[in-house]
Amino acid sequence: MSYPDRAAFGDLSRLHPLLEALDRFNRFEGPDPAGRRQADWKAHLGSTLPEQGAGLDEVLKDLSEWIVPNGLRNGHPGFSGWVTTSPTTSGTAAALASTVAGSQRVWVHAFNHLEALSLDWLAQLLGFPSTWHGTYTTGGSSANLIALGAARQWAVEQQGVDPSMTGLPPELKWRVYASSEVHHVVNRAAAILGIGRRNVIGIPVNAAGELDPDAAAARIRADRAEGYLPLAIVATAGTVNTGAIDPIRALRELATTEQTWLHVDGAYGMFGILDPDVREAYDGVAEADSVALDPHKWMAAPVGNGVAFVRDRGLLGRAFTLEPAAYLEGSMGTAPEVESPFDAFGEIFHEFNLDQSAPSRGVQVWAILREIGREGMTDRVMRHNGFARYLSELVGRSPHLEQLAPVRLSICCFRFIHPDIPAERLNDLNRDIVARLRAEGDLVPSTTMLQGRFAIRPCYINPRVRQSDVELLARRTEEIGLELLPRFRESPAG
Ligand SMILES: *Cc1c(COP(=O)(O)O)cnc(C)c1O
Repeated sequence: MSYPDRAAFGDLSRLHPLLEALDRFNRFEGPDPAGRRQADWKAHLGSTLPEQGAGLDEVLKDLSEWIVPNGLRNGHPGFSGWVTTSPTTSGTAAALASTVAGSQRVWVHAFNHLEALSLDWLAQLLGFPSTWHGTYTTGGSSANLIALGAARQWAVEQQGVDPSMTGLPPELKWRVYASSEVHHVVNRAAAILGIGRRNVIGIPVNAAGELDPDAAAARIRADRAEGYLPLAIVATAGTVNTGAIDPIRALRELATTEQTWLHVDGAYGMFGILDPDVREAYDGVAEADSVALDPHKWMAAPVGNGVAFVRDRGLLGRAFTLEPAAYLEGSMGTAPEVESPFDAFGEIFHEFNLDQSAPSRGVQVWAILREIGREGMTDRVMRHNGFARYLSELVGRSPHLEQLAPVRLSICCFRFIHPDIPAERLNDLNRDIVARLRAEGDLVPSTTMLQGRFAIRPCYINPRVRQSDVELLARRTEEIGLELLPRFRESPAG
């Protein structure tokens, strides 16, 4: 075939060397060059817009030799930072396949079908009612935004107004109730939805980091007295700091009493429901009004894969409809039979979402579940929760390590301690330990602050983590802490 555009010639079999480079990258051998060698690779990549194209071969060469080797190693087995990892092979293959052959999720084709099928599988996996409407999003940020958009639609409709058509009635004041540990994407969603960040009320948590439902009830009552209406209660199933799970059942009851919406942010922790040891904590989630979760976290789908589930499809549609447009609906066929895939929209998602054009993401979740099944996902979640408990055990056994929060899911917060080091120096000491760990490159946990104390915070969702990496983290933290001791003993704070 011949095309007028040179870039249209692209034999995909020429990608083999790139696949080999990706495979090499995924072996994570040698020190991580991306940070240390940034001057080199930035210089190679240059800064001037090319007037003439260099051709596909040069692009492939740059990708294999300069870009992939300096990519992000968040899939390294020693990486346990934040709540992120890089995808496994089935999800990677699915992403490549959909980039080429399913580049839009709309119309009648296999990828469109898999959007719906995989959402159905997720609902089955997590025990959600089959009547809920799911929709793929770019991640937890937009999943929470969409879910709270549905909450807003419902709450304001109760007042006789359609906020999607007329906006928020100025005479009504709304509040969202969440734990003080809520992820800030919820505050941002409130900002975008016209509720306002300051109207997301952080309810105090107990020692385990769980929202106190009595405090929430009291606050809602007090706010009502001042004219505020509750727009939603947000329960977090797996906080990013410690993995705490808010009391979903109690919050369901509170939301029912207060006639308000219950949203569950399970971006990280929703898959924890698969672990029989913690399943009970999720009691009530199937009666929530909406749930956000991230396949790109514990499922290790390629990043850019979040899901919002909302109990009422019509409500979601009213909140997010694109409204009929001549160039969309008007271009659909009218024949009862689908002769061309372009005669019908197939499974519709753009009416329930923020995006019109959007990639097919369902195929990624389909591929992962087809590869490992419920059993494989359950094993992974249990293994990772087990790693956090095991680390907690190792911490308990060491005189120089201290656990800083209870372990609920796959996060264990701890720090190095020593009788010679005054409390006010421990934060700096532990900060330096983590800097050393990162510099060595074998272990990359992240950190957080818990009641003013600097915590080393591994979060195990990375499918490549081994038990030996967990042991190494406890051992190296202690060794480095002891090595750094003289510096912290001698120099006073400040
Ligand atoms: C990760 C996370 C988010 C944000 O999700 P992104 O996919 O990073 O946008 C929100 N809430 C919780 C509880 C999370 O773990």
